[in-house]
Amino acid sequence: MTMRRFNVETGSRTEVVDITETVREAVPEDATGVCTVFVKHTTAGVVVQENETNLVNDIENFLNDLVPDEGHAHDALDGNADSHLRATLVGSDVSVPVEDGELALGTWQSVLFVECDGPRRREVVVDVA
Ligand code: ZN
Repeated sequence: MTMRRFNVETGSRTEVVDITETVREAVPEDATGVCTVFVKHTTAGVVVQENETNLVNDIENFLNDLVPDEGHAHDALDGNADSHLRATLVGSDVSVPVEDGELALGTWQSVLFVECDGPRRREVVVDVA
């Protein structure tokens, strides 16, 4: 088991950040198994998707359109229920097969960090087992 961590700095409230290269660098050269990418937060997540500029904008707009900004019970606590709900739709982890240290991603697949309550400094865990 090899667990590594890295940080992601985000600059907007909702923002997609391509972390594929950082995940790739976190995978040991000789590793074979399953790479889990886990986001240690309740208002951010991670997906495997295509990193195409218009699609990235679509994902950000889609999440914002699906979840209304206001009108949720958790807002009474800290005003960011919309961020939690968007992150719930995204999910906290993805799994990518690894063979000889290489991520077995498809041609158009990238690992995309999804910020739902930025700007913030976030922590991501990469574990190959
Ligand atoms: Zn909250």
